[in-house]
Amino acid sequence: MTFANAYRARVLVTGAGGFIGHHLTNYLVQHGYFVRGVDLKTPEYAPTRADEFWLLDLRRWENTLRATEGIDEVYNLAANMGGIGFIESHKAEIMRDSALINLHMLEAARVHGARRYLFSSSACVYPGYLQRSPEVTPLKEDDAYPADPEDGYGWEKLFIERQCRHYHEDFGLETRIVRFHNIYGELGTYDGGREKSPAAICRKVALAEDGGTIVVWGDGQQTRSYCHVADCVEGIYRLMRSEYPHPLNLGTDRLVTIDELVDIVATIAGKRIHKAHDLSKPQGVRGRNSDNASLRTVLRWEPRLTLEQGLARTYHWICGELQKAGRLPAHALAA
Ligand code: NAD
Repeated sequence: MTFANAYRARVLVTGAGGFIGHHLTNYLVQHGYFVRGVDLKTPEYAPTRADEFWLLDLRRWENTLRATEGIDEVYNLAANMGGIGFIESHKAEIMRDSALINLHMLEAARVHGARRYLFSSSACVYPGYLQRSPEVTPLKEDDAYPADPEDGYGWEKLFIERQCRHYHEDFGLETRIVRFHNIYGELGTYDGGREKSPAAICRKVALAEDGGTIVVWGDGQQTRSYCHVADCVEGIYRLMRSEYPHPLNLGTDRLVTIDELVDIVATIAGKRIHKAHDLSKPQGVRGRNSDNASLRTVLRWEPRLTLEQGLARTYHWICGELQKAGRLPAHALAA
């Protein structure tokens, strides 16, 4: 019998109007939890399945107290964030908003006696000096120190990881810390400046003619590993149920270049696509991969969907959205 079934546990998902929070809400509802979703906005592409959904600004202390009242477990995913273009040009705003959210959320969870608390951290906490080559050595959790995280978003995440540890040590709050590595999938932002590379590439390929050219940020040789959101929510849940209070990577360890990512999407689309590299655009670190040794040991599990499977789902979903928006003719979906 799961924790949810033994007693209908009440969980809070913050950021439930966002990409991962929306998928996590659906997952937890399916697993029998009572879910309160909180966000500044409702989900963009599909209605929430949360038992209740409150629009609250979690930068404000009184709102974090309201959000956590009567809650057993907190999944705190709210953050002011976006793709590399956004995080490199909005550092002050990102650090201010997310630090306010996270400091208030931890304290409010403590005040209300929440039993467990999950913080969504990021691979952006890893030091720049370990990510200078495309053939990067996969990053282990302990590699985060000596610290040299991404300047802004990454520093805020590393600081709050530390604060989770101190809430655990000083107040006994059962904190869990997950470091996501490039989560992508259906119902994620695919346009407007906050989208990440897989969604941006799917959109560009979808809108391109067969034999056409798309713009790729950087020289295309920068490397990353990608994890589909279905695996991500499963991993989050397993970590929350575990007894592991230390930071844990959640991603895949298959390294691909951005150019390879484009080629995979082009194959899915059935199109020949040429790449125009725009070196003036930000590309983030040169290489980043997840070391999954701890993930396998702690959760006795790791992500299952291949990049091809996950990108196929994502590409077809984005095509459907573009079609609904009148940006893609229906016959373009035939491929
Ligand atoms: P997202 O932007 O889709 O979701 C974040 C949500 O937080 C948004 O819906 C936003 O409206 C909400 N939010 C922002 N400010 C708020 C406020 N003041 N009050 C209430 N809600 C607020 O992003 P996501 O991809 O779903 O990311 C979820 C979490 O995972 C974030 O903490 C993010 O930093 C972390 N993360 C994501 C990735 C990834 O690849 N998607 C990678 C590393 C870390």
